Amino acid sequence: MTARIIDGKALSKQLREGFKTRVATLVAQGVTPGLAVILVGDNPASRVYVGNKVKACEECGVRSFHIALLGDTVESEVLTTIARLNADPAVHGILIQLPLPPHIDGRKVLEAISVHKDVDGFHLYNVGGLVVGNTIFPPCTPYGVQLLLDTTGTDVAGKNVVVVGASNIVGKPMALMLLQREATVTICHAKTRDLAQHTILADILIVAAGKPGLIVPQMVKQGAIVIDVGINRLPDGKIVGDVDFEGVKEKASWITPVPGGVGPMTVTMLIENTLRSAERALRMRQTDDYQDWEAPVLKGH
Ligand code: NAP
Repeated sequence: MTARIIDGKALSKQLREGFKTRVATLVAQGVTPGLAVILVGDNPASRVYVGNKVKACEECGVRSFHIALLGDTVESEVLTTIARLNADPAVHGILIQLPLPPHIDGRKVLEAISVHKDVDGFHLYNVGGLVVGNTIFPPCTPYGVQLLLDTTGTDVAGKNVVVVGASNIVGKPMALMLLQREATVTICHAKTRDLAQHTILADILIVAAGKPGLIVPQMVKQGAIVIDVGINRLPDGKIVGDVDFEGVKEKASWITPVPGGVGPMTVTMLIENTLRSAERALRMRQTDDYQDWEAPVLKGH
């Protein structure tokens, strides 16, 4: 069997086309969706990520506010900047590009973002929302994976899902989202003993460890769906995931490539969350008692 490719680039393009109509509807009602991206310091990789986000905003008609702060900016100034953006009605989403310089308390900064503008979904309110099964803004990378899985037509309820990687931004929220969809979820991490004994049981294997070549064909169940979140730059400059794509594609039923799988979806879901935030703000303005805490992706079947 050769796996079918889950094409994140194509799905991203399709979703972004749909965003244009939503932006036009908002603009017609006097709201231009806006995303503020704060970058502290000049980490080259972060600059590339911020550039991609700003470009995606422009492509979809979302106004972007790029706030570049020097690497030695004190924490209080970052917090003041966030407070200003929280109060700015032109800003519907606020994103802090991670990692932050070590003298800044990342948790404190993330908690300073208004929960109504937390389009990255990292505020504790949104994290808690994931735990109890409803949230305003699902974190972008797992949100994108969820939509990629949907394109395979697979009902995840009752499936064995193994998530390799337990970070706060990918592995843990991913596991919670799929648990909400009634999958049986196992989370593995660096201290997991005999990783293969878990992965081999996975109907759906999601890998987000940041270790090239971690998953080889012997670790994959015949016919599994394999989602590779990893992005690793090899010494020769080549970008690869965590999965041995060439080997595993002969065993899997569906697989994401790297690049062109999960990567493009992450930025797309950031725009989705920003549009959703602008739509919520508009409806809240129009209807005093409007309540819509639950993101569509998390609703069960
Ligand atoms: P992270 O914070 O470094 O977390 C990595 C996780 O993988 C940790 O939970 C770690 O376990 C686990 N791990 C490390 N080595 C392992 C091993 N040998 N076996 C099993 N688990 C192992 O990384 P992250 O931010 O979640 O990112 C993970 C990867 O996804 C990276 O390659 C990153 O570049 C990529 N990524 C891609 C996107 C995208 O848009 N495609 C977005 C975000 C991240 P411990 O908890 O025990 O340390």
